[in-house]
Amino acid sequence: MVEVRLENLKKYFDNGKVKAVDGIDLTIKDGEFLVLLGPSGCGKTTTLRMIAGLEIPTGGKIWFGDKDVTYFSPKDRNISMVFQSYAVWPHMTVYDNIAFPLKIKKYPKAEIDKKVKWVAELLQIETLLDRYPAQLSGGQRQRVAVARAIVVEPAVLLMDEPLSNLDAKLRVAMRAEIKKLQTKLKVTTIYVTHDQVEAMTMGDRIAVMNQGKILQVGPPTEVYLKPNSVFVGTFIGAPEMNLLEVSIKEKDRNLVLEGEGFEIPLSEDFRELLKDYIDKTVLFGIRPEHMTVEGVSTLEHVKKITTIEGLVDFVEALGTDTIVHANIGEGNLIKVKLPGHIPLEIGSKVKIVIDLENIHVFDKN
Ligand code: ADP
Ligand code: MG
Repeated sequence: MVEVRLENLKKYFDNGKVKAVDGIDLTIKDGEFLVLLGPSGCGKTTTLRMIAGLEIPTGGKIWFGDKDVTYFSPKDRNISMVFQSYAVWPHMTVYDNIAFPLKIKKYPKAEIDKKVKWVAELLQIETLLDRYPAQLSGGQRQRVAVARAIVVEPAVLLMDEPLSNLDAKLRVAMRAEIKKLQTKLKVTTIYVTHDQVEAMTMGDRIAVMNQGKILQVGPPTEVYLKPNSVFVGTFIGAPEMNLLEVSIKEKDRNLVLEGEGFEIPLSEDFRELLKDYIDKTVLFGIRPEHMTVEGVSTLEHVKKITTIEGLVDFVEALGTDTIVHANIGEGNLIKVKLPGHIPLEIGSKVKIVIDLENIHVFDKN
């Protein structure tokens, strides 16, 4: 178990034309479950491959504790990696697949047997040890891959979208299992995904990445509640955060957010908070779940609210929730998430209640 530190880490391809990883600084604490989250192509796999020693950095350093491992070969790093494709050997039984890394390390037979049985029990695959991968389901094969990764008791566990080949239901189940397993083993883990729900539910902290750079690092609730940029705000959360271009104006001693065809009044205490933005155009962000419709439900525990009017434009009935798309003026649509099945009529007038403790103001660039 070890702390992993990335220092101005870079990887360029094609003579510098592709900046896959463009100078990232990140410390993953000893025993932490860190999720590297970002869209396809943002440099997650390249980052993981550098930590694994499968890719030589263009610049920067990788530290495991106080050891500079930047140029260590993979086998000298005491890491294990789990890939999206299960990468279990088809010609070996489950037992031999798991035992393989121990055999390479020339462990005595009795100890191999003990360790294989230990991880098989941890991953609940004890009854599958004599089978071949072809006789396993996708989920079982991924368990074998995870078992093989942890049997060597690595200092660092690296996982690259390990659940993305599984169907939705299994993915949810495995999410919880991997998280519980990691909590039990306390192995420093770096888990790559493009799935924000996986990131939110699994990570002790999330590092949000885009275009080779890390934009924000923090516990899930922090990146969710206090996103530092439009990218982080909209990448995390579903349905996506609403964004509206507004000017912040003074009106009758109070501030309002003035947009095309609508006006959102703010409470008095925003004056201090937004004083640098008065008369400026900004992007106003509000999550669908931080609003409601008057008469449908109330925003519990919320002290500061404001209300605007809208016309129901479209309704998505999800069963558990209802997403109302409301026109608040000049075609500006805002999505509001309501709990349960709410049969609102298209064209009907609604009063939208906004939780002012959860609004976001981003610079428009
Ligand atoms: P992610 O895992 O986030 O989807 P990757 O790390 O795989 O992203 O890729 C980041 C960028 O680097 C992409 O633009 C990808 O095309 C590019 N890239 C990755 N590996 C190579 C390579 N071996 N040669 C050239 N470009 C690469
Ligand atoms: Mg990838």
